[in-house]
Amino acid sequence: MTFDNLKLIPPILNALKAEGYEKPTPIQEQSIPIILNKTDLLGCAQTGTGKTAAFAIPILQLLNAEDTQKGRKIIKVLILTPTRELAIQIGESFSAYGRNLRLRHTVIFGGVPQGSQVRELQRGIDILIATPGRLLDLMNQGYVDIRNLGIFVLDEADRMLDMGFIHDVKKVVAKIPEKRQTLFFSATMPNEIQKLANTILKDPKKVEVTPASTTAETVSQSVYFVDKKDKKNLLKHVLADRAITRALVFSRTKHGADKIVKDLNNNGITAEAIHGNKSQNARQRALTNFKDGRIRVLVATDIAARGIDVDNLSHVINYEIPEVPETYVHRIGRTGRAGASGIAISFCDDEERADFRGILKLTGQDIPVVTEHPYPASFSGLVKINPPKNKEVVGRPNAISGRSANNRNRKFYKR
Ligand code: AMP
Repeated sequence: MTFDNLKLIPPILNALKAEGYEKPTPIQEQSIPIILNKTDLLGCAQTGTGKTAAFAIPILQLLNAEDTQKGRKIIKVLILTPTRELAIQIGESFSAYGRNLRLRHTVIFGGVPQGSQVRELQRGIDILIATPGRLLDLMNQGYVDIRNLGIFVLDEADRMLDMGFIHDVKKVVAKIPEKRQTLFFSATMPNEIQKLANTILKDPKKVEVTPASTTAETVSQSVYFVDKKDKKNLLKHVLADRAITRALVFSRTKHGADKIVKDLNNNGITAEAIHGNKSQNARQRALTNFKDGRIRVLVATDIAARGIDVDNLSHVINYEIPEVPETYVHRIGRTGRAGASGIAISFCDDEERADFRGILKLTGQDIPVVTEHPYPASFSGLVKINPPKNKEVVGRPNAISGRSANNRNRKFYKR
């Protein structure tokens, strides 16, 4: 399957070429024809699957076909997404894929003065990308006219629920025209989200990719068993490897994230934290510094990190093992995106072994243990699960930078 097979117009095909995209990802392959056909869509997919392009590309094509109107532009598409970071990333995707078209979009989100966002809205746009709170605020002030909306996209619906935005989402939905095409994306489908989907979609086609229990197969994983008190030294030891160019370190708590950053900075390793207690500006600044390579390490909590899209993220480091096994899959999905290879390293202390076992069970993969390191655990690191029966051996992934010697004899099984 190529993008040509998806009946895309040349200006979009050229933009995709310029982005270096060679072929559609599974979610794109499945969603683009449905959306071009003007059918509602229920997409079960997390970030990292190419989901943004899966809706942005056909939306651009549909709007371009309609773009005959002269004069001031009016909003025809609304994309609602939970965080400022995601909103900005979606905006960047529309800029990239729509670079050869005359369509205009803008991004609005809270935590910053509204002046420049209002001016953009007043200039006239085709596509509005927004977080719910700021959108409602600007709608109430009369700056957003969505009476002509034809397409509504709800992105990361489960996360909207997590972050307490579901009421705001419902308020927005109540104000948009009933006659519309709706695209609904969520990584997971808890009851409340399924109910919401039922109320806002009409005869949707369902598309599902990479369920949360599938560990990205391009990601090489390894685990270090280590005492809690030694984790910070182990982190510095691991980061001494210069092959780690850009690492996302996950911390369970905001306070913990700040402590890790402080310790790394004190030891000459550039790092910043991103979590809910940081202002929007501080979060965005840290993310930009990380993307631009000004800092080597970004320390994040799960909520803050979900959806972060960084090219060339070489390593994900789980400083703590997440309690919910699916979270592990989301975390390591930050690296190895869209076919690139990535490396995920986990630090597991005595108390976390049960959680780690949960991850092995969920993924059905055997994660190699790195035993040769300067901070061996005072407890036995054995966490055995039986490899699944009748599964083909698929190879022996490298642990860290392909240099770990003690994994050689371990086998890896396909789920
Ligand atoms: P998303 O799931 O939308 O967050 O996208 C994840 C990453 O994959 C982004 O960096 C995209 O630029 C990239 N991407 C999306 N579609 C493709 C494709 N067909 N080929 C290569 N990279 C892609």
